[in-house]
This record gives sequence, structure tokens and C-alpha cells, in this order.
Amino acid sequence: MTALIDGKRLAQDMRGEIKRGVEKFVKERGREIGLAVVLVGENPASQVYVRNKIKACEEVGIKSYAEYLSADAAQDDVENLVKRLADDKNIDGILVQLPLPKHLDAEKILKLIPTAKDVDGFSEENTGKLCMGEDCLVACTPNGVMKMLERYGVETKGKKAVVVGRSNIVGKPMAMLLLNADATVTVCHSKTVNLKEECLRADILVVAIGKAKFVTADMVKDGATVIDIGMNRNEGGKLCGDVDFENVKHKCAYITPVPGGVGPMTITMLMYNTLQAALRR
Ligand code: NAP
Repeated sequence: MTALIDGKRLAQDMRGEIKRGVEKFVKERGREIGLAVVLVGENPASQVYVRNKIKACEEVGIKSYAEYLSADAAQDDVENLVKRLADDKNIDGILVQLPLPKHLDAEKILKLIPTAKDVDGFSEENTGKLCMGEDCLVACTPNGVMKMLERYGVETKGKKAVVVGRSNIVGKPMAMLLLNADATVTVCHSKTVNLKEECLRADILVVAIGKAKFVTADMVKDGATVIDIGMNRNEGGKLCGDVDFENVKHKCAYITPVPGGVGPMTITMLMYNTLQAALRR
């Protein structure tokens, strides 16, 4: 029988726990926890993401510092802002909303975020530590997936995990986390030969490619756990994942829906990382 992994519910539960953690921090340390969110330009999707992040901060009691720059901001302006936030003692975490306008050197800007304030977990040092199995700030989306597996009691040890997608911010850290959790991991991508056969071997199949309903029922082993990270719009403009949910769900032990699966966990993990960053300082 298939069980749905309810990301919305889990995210709510976790936000309650984070809120209690924040309250304890404020009481014990006598200061607030601060998250700076930098938005350059007026990309509508980015505006929604930033609004949701600020809302989540309010919900858990983290003080948000929204820093808006116009779309034509110069490289120096953005760099100076990030440097100022890096030195600001009230700020525990810095997030630069991506994508940045094309004329900006995003890599150079992201490198200015100190490792200790890198709540997105994208820095070279945090990524390196993750590879070494060391304690670090982990990218929010894959870390949220691990929390889902943990909370739903999905065993990873000795299991065959297949991650489809190898981006630096989702697929690769996802694979590393599963490896650190003792799964035997295969990473697939657009050049993978026999993708279907690879997927069919998975006890845990994680999909992060960005193609609506790409993973079909014939690619999924009976009793597998399927985690759908994809966020796409279908023909009718409705949000959907990379997995053909309606047809795949009958085969799985567990499956995440889209919406209501991985998505709500991502922002929650940003709150989690900000609390962790504050606790470490
Ligand atoms: P990305 O940077 O575009 O990477 C996509 C990956 O998928 C690449 O590694 C690519 O392979 C692989 N791929 C593309 N077509 C493929 C195919 N036909 N067969 C096998 N692999 C294929 O995307 P991303 O940033 O990782 O995001 C992936 C998806 O997750 C998107 O839908 C995004 O919106 C979603 N997402 C969701 C959340 C959330 O909170 N729910 C967070 C982040 C991302 P190559 O490397 O060979 O090109």
C-alpha cells in the first residue's frame, strides 16, 4: 500500500520545533536571530520566494532583513551589501536570491558570504565538509528530503538509492547525503545510458531534473520510495513534479506529492539552518 509523505504537515511540525529552538536561543543568549535576504531586481518568481522566506521567518521568530536592490545594480553595490551583512553581528545567515541579473557575477558575490552565514549551504567549504561527512550547513532542499526519509522511517542503510539530476545545489548534495546515510548511491543525468534500468534498481528514487511527469510507472520498482523534487508547470499551468504521480503512486511504499511534498520542506530547512548558524556562533 502506498503512503503519502506529507511535506506540508512535516514542515509545519518542524517549524513548531524551530520556533521553540529560536525562543530558547533568544532567552539564553539575550539577542535575536537574524536572516538577511538579498533580492536584486524584480523577477516575479524570486519575489514570491523572498516573500515566503520572510513569512517563514515571522512564523518561527527569526528577524528578517530584506535587502532590495534594483535590477541595474552594479557589481560593486551588491558586493558591498554582502560584505556589510557579512560583518553585521545581528545577522546569522545571508541568502542571496538566485538567479541574479545576467550582468552580475553571481559566483563572485556568493563567495563573499562567510561559511558560517552560508545558510543555503552552497559554499565550497560547506560543500567540501558535506563530502567529508563533517558537520556543516547543508543545502536546504536535499536536507529537507533527508528529514522526510528520517521522519517517515524510510531505511537508507544498505539500500540502493538512485538520484536523477546532478546539479550542484540539488542532485550532488542529495547523493552525498544518501551516501553519508549508508545508502549505495547511483547518480544519473542527461547522458546516462539506460536510465530506466538504473531507476528500476532503486529502493529510493530521488528525481530532480525539471521535466514534468518524466518518471513513469515502468521506471519504478514495486515498493520503492519515490521523492519528487521537480517543480514544473503542466499544460494547464498547474504545478507538477518530475514524476507521473497518478500512475506511479500505486507502485510505491512512499511517494511525495507536488505540490505539498519537498517544496514546503525547503524553506523550513532554511529556518533550520539559520537557527543552526546562530547556535554555532
Ligand atoms: P538543473 O540545474 O537544471 O539540473 C537538472 C539536472 O537534471 C541536470 O543534472 C541534468 O543533467 C538532469 N537532466 C535533465 N534532463 C534529463 C534527462 N532527460 N534524463 C536524466 N537527467 C536529466 O536543475 P536543479 O536546480 O537541480 O532543479 C531540478 C528541479 O528541481 C527543477 O524542477 C527545480 O525547479 C526543482 N527544485 C525544487 C526545489 C524545491 O524546493 N522543491 C528546490 C530546488 C529545485 P546534466 O547535468 O547532464 O545536464
